[in-house]
Amino acid sequence: MNSLPLELIKVKTDVLVIGGGGAASRAALSAAQQGAKVRLVTKAPLKSGGSTVHGASEIMSMGAAGFGDKADGVEIHYEDTMRAGKGFIDPKLVRILAEDAPDRVRDLIDLGVPLDRSNAGEFKLIKSDFGSYARAVGVKGKTGKAFVTAITDELIRLGVQVDENVALLDIICDRDGVITGALCYDTSRQQLIHYEAPAVILGTGGAHGAFQQQVSTAEMTGDGQAICYRHGATLVNMEFHQVGPALIHPYVQLFSGSCFGLHPKLLNNQHEEFIAKYIPGGVDLNNVYDQKVFPFTTINDSRFIEIAITREINEGRGTERGGVYLSFAHIPIEKIANGMPNTYRWMSSHGLKPDKDPLEIGLAFQCMNGGVRMMDSDAQSSIPGLFVIGELAGGVRGPDRPGGNSLAEGQVFGNRSGIAAAKRAKVTEQGEPHTLNDSLNFIEAALHRNRDGHSRSIKEISSSVQKIMQKDCLIEKNAVSMKAALKYLISTQRELEDTLALTPENLVVGMSTRNLITTGILILHACLQREETRSGHYRTDFPDTSSDMICSFTALKKNDGIVFSRLTY
Ligand SMILES: Cc1cc2nc3c(=O)[nH]c(=O)nc-3n(C[C@H](O)[C@H](O)[C@H](O)COP(=O)(O)OP(=O)(O)OC[C@H]3O[C@@H](n4cnc5c(N)ncnc54)[C@H](O)[C@@H]3O)c2cc1C
Repeated sequence: MNSLPLELIKVKTDVLVIGGGGAASRAALSAAQQGAKVRLVTKAPLKSGGSTVHGASEIMSMGAAGFGDKADGVEIHYEDTMRAGKGFIDPKLVRILAEDAPDRVRDLIDLGVPLDRSNAGEFKLIKSDFGSYARAVGVKGKTGKAFVTAITDELIRLGVQVDENVALLDIICDRDGVITGALCYDTSRQQLIHYEAPAVILGTGGAHGAFQQQVSTAEMTGDGQAICYRHGATLVNMEFHQVGPALIHPYVQLFSGSCFGLHPKLLNNQHEEFIAKYIPGGVDLNNVYDQKVFPFTTINDSRFIEIAITREINEGRGTERGGVYLSFAHIPIEKIANGMPNTYRWMSSHGLKPDKDPLEIGLAFQCMNGGVRMMDSDAQSSIPGLFVIGELAGGVRGPDRPGGNSLAEGQVFGNRSGIAAAKRAKVTEQGEPHTLNDSLNFIEAALHRNRDGHSRSIKEISSSVQKIMQKDCLIEKNAVSMKAALKYLISTQRELEDTLALTPENLVVGMSTRNLITTGILILHACLQREETRSGHYRTDFPDTSSDMICSFTALKKNDGIVFSRLTY
């Protein structure tokens, strides 16, 4: 590194937390409560980026036993979760999740989060998919935003320094592969920052930006997954993700099961109703709608909704934005307002009249169920000193996850990682940043590279990848199209490694596109690996569930290739 055309500053802290969602903010709070000096770095402004704050649905809520029916309890929450993911999730971590979740809800109450209650003061609880009891608490469908607002107000009060509009570019390790900090970029100041910290917590969320339609925010480009993979961390369950129908215009809003409980009509670009074409004999259309929850699943007849939408779009009868229409016009307005009160309220505030106008919907990526593997009960990854939490992390979500568990997971492992990171910082000497020069060299070369001769812009590259991932890796998957998609992503990745031309203005977008492609490759490889159909993983060339495949696959970088191994618990 000789002539870096950007200022590089150094910042020292005890604990570095990256991400501004529910998991990362909770981690920063817990580390600060231990007395550690904490720095929180987030790519988007605080309270605006990621799924926790942006996510909203009829039933957005956090699952924890102890707030409703006395017959419910930690053991039943554990069993419900294991029933949804047995063979694919770590029982030790699931037990911790069920045990700690009630205390983390109590913390939120203490912080003043206004959980929904009845007039009598009882908690209004939601019974989500895979839940034996109604146990999920929420705040008017915008639960995550309420959590993050309360937590971040408190961590700022405790003196945590928050660096907004600062993106993680790379993690930094010593000669032995132990974490020593991270390299980040402040987009407002156009300044590189080398954070030195003996404990780093990543809570960078999912890989929504790898797909054309998604219900989170644009900066969620799988950065954490790609960066951890490049540094040799173990990933797990990367083939499992959740996807479902969502409004795509004029704003994005997922449709929970209760919306489909109203039995709306699906219409193509000619405004023709089409679902009947895709329902085999013997299947009752009423059941198709009544069994629908948000995420696509092959375990019941609701699957025909997503399959029908996919085929209409792929056969050219979709809208220009890549959607179809959903019509509630045949349903009385009172029924709509009562059946999906939050959704109806939000639509009305955007000027939509669901009782009159058809709504433009698509199939949107909601969340990753796999990620960087949590190796212990403090959410440490296989890289010493690097903790991974929330949607970035893998271990307690499998082909399915009970609704409400993701918000709970962020709070539980956010808290545990924050405490463990603070302890580690007290007893660990700051290591030598051995990999820093490699990271800087890559950026320096890209900043000096001229874009002349490079035909495609970064935007064109990311759009092309998103389109392919949407078509070949969302609902209907098969080896032929996924191999073609993989070939395209790998060649695009090579093109980018050799020709990526960065400027101070597009540095984050460029590096994020590189990550988006790497994470897309990981997802595609993992989906190819799983030659069966299981829940939301629908292989048209392997339509049956295989008893030989009740195991997770871990993914690891070796000699520039990905090695998959079976993992049983
Ligand atoms: C519409 C919707 C509804 C949902 N409903 C539910 C529900 O009812 N119950 C439930 O349990 N779960 C639900 N989920 C899933 C759940 O909300 C998420 O899995 C969870 O909130 C993820 O939290 P997180 O903190 O890990 O990530 P996020 O909240 O996504 O936060 C990630 C953060 O990382 C930042 N970031 C990303 N990359 C970088 C980088 N390179 N450098 C610095 N910062 C970076 C982002 O800006 C963001 O602040 C829903 C999700 C969606 C989208």
